[in-house]
Amino acid sequence: MTTSTFVRDLMADVKAKNPAEPEFHQAVQEVAESLELVLERRPEYRTARIIERMIEPERVVMFRVPWQDDQGGIHINRGFRIEMNSAIGPYKGGLRFHASVNLGILKFLAFEQVLKNSLTTLPMGGGKGGSDFDPKGKSDNEVMRFCQSFMTELSRHIGPDTDVPAGDIGVGGREIGFLFGQYKRLRNEFTGVLTGKGLNWGGSLIRPEATGYGAVYFAKEMLATRNQTFEGKTCLVSGSGNVAQYTVEKLLQLGAKPVTMSDSDGYVYDEAGITTDKLNFVMDLKNVRRGRIKDYADKYKGVVYTAVDGRASSNPLWDHKADCAFPSATQNEISATDAANLLRNGVYCVSEGSNMPTVLDGVRQFIDAKILYAPGKASNAGGVATSGLEMSQNSMRLSWTRDEVDDRLHKIMQSIHRNCRETAEAFGTPGNYVNGANIAGFLKVADAMMDQGLV
Ligand code: NAP
Repeated sequence: MTTSTFVRDLMADVKAKNPAEPEFHQAVQEVAESLELVLERRPEYRTARIIERMIEPERVVMFRVPWQDDQGGIHINRGFRIEMNSAIGPYKGGLRFHASVNLGILKFLAFEQVLKNSLTTLPMGGGKGGSDFDPKGKSDNEVMRFCQSFMTELSRHIGPDTDVPAGDIGVGGREIGFLFGQYKRLRNEFTGVLTGKGLNWGGSLIRPEATGYGAVYFAKEMLATRNQTFEGKTCLVSGSGNVAQYTVEKLLQLGAKPVTMSDSDGYVYDEAGITTDKLNFVMDLKNVRRGRIKDYADKYKGVVYTAVDGRASSNPLWDHKADCAFPSATQNEISATDAANLLRNGVYCVSEGSNMPTVLDGVRQFIDAKILYAPGKASNAGGVATSGLEMSQNSMRLSWTRDEVDDRLHKIMQSIHRNCRETAEAFGTPGNYVNGANIAGFLKVADAMMDQGLV
């Protein structure tokens, strides 16, 4: 990757217009560097200023979310919905509840979502939303009151053919339930306005599993290009939430040996390997008891727990001998030092479950080292793809079986892999999944925008 005049000028504008949004700048820069290859061949996109239009959200909604805690204390959080691009379908993308949420983080996520949704082969535009509310340590009633207040405003802006949110960090089945209940109460409509719903009220089988399973299916395709399988491969996984749990589950099904999981306090290293029983313990710990990953090390012998300072320049989780890595926690969790450590420890396959987990310098190191490296917008697209399948089932008012949805998910991940690979090759950078994903995702949206005129 080199930085040309086009990228430099674009980035100067982006930074001036969107100050204090470093994650958004990072996401745009990575994509812009890939798109240079397209602009050389298709100057009409440049004349129509498609990239400049694509990085400007169609609409940003920002609102007050007041709520009351169990003691009667009053809290005010900030709610957001970024409706980024609707050229190929209704806005679609998750809601994140985390103390770190701000406009810039949601804009980076919404921008990535546009290209990711395009890759899924399904008709979905891109959006993202959330709040700086932190559900950790809150009672169920407090979470419910927050969700009801949040949805009271959000309900004015979304709808099954307009904008269909889903979960993300801090928004799982419990939160989607409270949000859906409030939407239905306000609108007097039972519609597929959210995905990730419960199975007996419009949800799809495999949706909870989809992002993690999809990241592993994508890695399986990458390994196959080198005639390899997961059998016996040692894998590093970060996070212990939705994506991490089902990444570990699918790795186990395919014969791999996952050895790490983490949360924002630290990580466990289980040299003997995380087994199905141990994973069940983590699922109960995280989804029911809402405890910390340290408990895993207290429960099982031979496991090392290491506390991690999120502000440090590297994370020891990425400094173990392994074959594959599945970052599944949050953005920028792999620093330049971490990327170098992964390569030094023999990791040659990285499939991103989280969004933009690798800093730009780390991405460059992976590409230069010619390892199998899949950017999140390709490898974690299984979640939103299955949300798309949930929308289809809602529209048809029927439910597919577990095998049917899993089979569709598997085929979608194979198709995304093929598309990224072929596009990278067609644009002269074989094996570069970053260029493949950015360009393939862009082309479909760009052509739709060209067809639809200056809107
Ligand atoms: P989740 O269930 O809330 O789990 C998030 C996990 O990451 C938790 O273990 C959390 O630890 C950890 N984490 C969060 N912020 C962190 C930070 N700043 N530093 C260190 N650890 C942190 O969320 P999720 O749905 O698995 O999402 C994980 C990632 O996948 C996110 O990047 C998300 O955008 C991406 N993603 C999710 C989906 C989906 O379908 N859910 C789809 C595509 C991409 P604590 O509990 O200590 O906070």
